[in-house]
Amino acid sequence: MEYYSSHINKLIEQLSHLPGIGAKSAQRLAFHIMNMPKEQVQQLTAAITDARTNVQYCKCCYTLTDREMCPICSNPKRDHSTIMVVENTRDLAAYEKTGKFEGVYHVLHGAISPMLGIGPDDIKLKELIMRLQGDVKEVIIATNSSLEGETTAMYISKLIKPTGIKVSRIASGVPVGGDLEYIDEVTLLRALEGRVEL
Ligand code: ZN
Repeated sequence: MEYYSSHINKLIEQLSHLPGIGAKSAQRLAFHIMNMPKEQVQQLTAAITDARTNVQYCKCCYTLTDREMCPICSNPKRDHSTIMVVENTRDLAAYEKTGKFEGVYHVLHGAISPMLGIGPDDIKLKELIMRLQGDVKEVIIATNSSLEGETTAMYISKLIKPTGIKVSRIASGVPVGGDLEYIDEVTLLRALEGRVEL
């Protein structure tokens, strides 16, 4: 590594912190950036800073949004009594793309994982329970079918059941361990329509 400039080494190190980027990919990206026109690099860094500075959690569903309240939560035509719980904003986007879900969402920003030391307090779970004090008829749990997703689903259903609110889980048509965002719309719709009450 000492063959490179210390500036490049610093860049490689920063890039290697990104998910899915190993040492080799980080090097490849760093050298790619070195060959980019300076103006394009400025646009890239500005976009990163701009997104991180201006995007915030929706105060209602906690998705990432430009406004205090996201367009879905502020839409009176949506069914605010049906809440679909997803792990992240990408999963929300996957369901939105189907155009068939009329309810609202709750974004947990993660899943419970005893292995990784992620507990219920590390995700937006308290915030979900707070929302249930309003007029909620059904909570649809659409966490991934990974071990973490299933653990989270079980935990949530145990919390909600005593309240008498209907709790359902999307059908297991979703491949085990598959990230929701990679699943096609037909499969997602089938999973939603075939949801089972817990
Ligand atoms: Zn929202």
